[in-house]
Amino acid sequence: MSSRPTPFIPTIGGDTSFHNNVPDPLLAGKELPTFKFALEKSAGKVSGNSYGKEATVEELPISKGIAGVSMQLEPGVMREMHWHATAAEWAFVLKGRVRTTVIDPLGNSEINDFEPGDIWYFPRGHGHMLQCLGNEPCHFILIFDNGYFSEFGTFSVSDWMSRVPKELLAKNLGVDVAQLATYPTSEVYFGRGAVPPEPAALPLHGATTPPLTHKYRMLSDPPHRVFDGGQEWRVDSTKFPISRTVTGVVLDLDPGALRELHWHPTADEWHYVIDGNVSVTMFGSHGRYRAETLEAGDVGYIPQGYGHSIENIGDKTARLLIAFNTGVYASIGLTQWLAGQPKDVLATNLSQPAVSFDDFPKGEVFIAPAKKS
Ligand code: MN
Ligand code: MN
Repeated sequence: MSSRPTPFIPTIGGDTSFHNNVPDPLLAGKELPTFKFALEKSAGKVSGNSYGKEATVEELPISKGIAGVSMQLEPGVMREMHWHATAAEWAFVLKGRVRTTVIDPLGNSEINDFEPGDIWYFPRGHGHMLQCLGNEPCHFILIFDNGYFSEFGTFSVSDWMSRVPKELLAKNLGVDVAQLATYPTSEVYFGRGAVPPEPAALPLHGATTPPLTHKYRMLSDPPHRVFDGGQEWRVDSTKFPISRTVTGVVLDLDPGALRELHWHPTADEWHYVIDGNVSVTMFGSHGRYRAETLEAGDVGYIPQGYGHSIENIGDKTARLLIAFNTGVYASIGLTQWLAGQPKDVLATNLSQPAVSFDDFPKGEVFIAPAKKS
């Protein structure tokens, strides 16, 4: 057997496997910290009827691997052109319609229009903007593959252009300084203007096609899997190749149904409850266990490798948006693990007669329906 230590291989954003090699004081205590944050009840940043509310390590200290934002934009409002130095952005549209532009380092620009159930992915550092389309507000959830990332610390075009001397900017753009006189003097963040044209106009440089699209119509696909008790849509980089650091899931659980006890070997997990009430349990070794109740608008977080389950404790279907900071999804379920053992192993481990395991599941349950009473 080799005792050679695993070499440290620096990884690109999203692979957080190195986190677990270093003792994390927050997770090393006798009790597990909270893994719930009431995102929609938080104040956030508000401008008229547009807002951004965020859950970073500031609001939810356990969520070191993933940050999230709930954002609403009114008609004619734009989340201005910006980039993120330290995170890729993944998003799921809940309501209304959204237009995005994104530029890549080769100069390709993609303009996409999104509807509820659609997702986007912008690689770390690629410049983009988000805009409400039509006459209804839009609402979407943003995920960042870095829990330390704050949506309010982005690199905005107006912030930058207002800081540099006008002479420098005029030289850069090849225009007269006078032409810049009425430009914004600080960060715009939420820009306000006309409702955007449809279809979108061409970029200044004309049409370009990036090698990989940034848009995927997640809920237009049939569910990834359907169970007695619920269904799951799942999109990772095998379906949506540009999404190399995020996997997205929409999980529906019928009343009483249980997403079974399981863990993820390679990723942290982030929840946003779209609808319903769920009980989430988390197991953290050494007898440490915690359960939290999440309702619509709440966020939950499960660190990589921690055991957990999700149970619908309400009387209607619960729908969760779940994101993982990996482009390749992996999980191991309790039933899958047990079914992978000979009966004598289970008999010895759990001090039971071997025959008692005859009626155990022969494979992964994934979602268990409500107990028939
Ligand atoms: Mn962004
Ligand atoms: Mn999970």
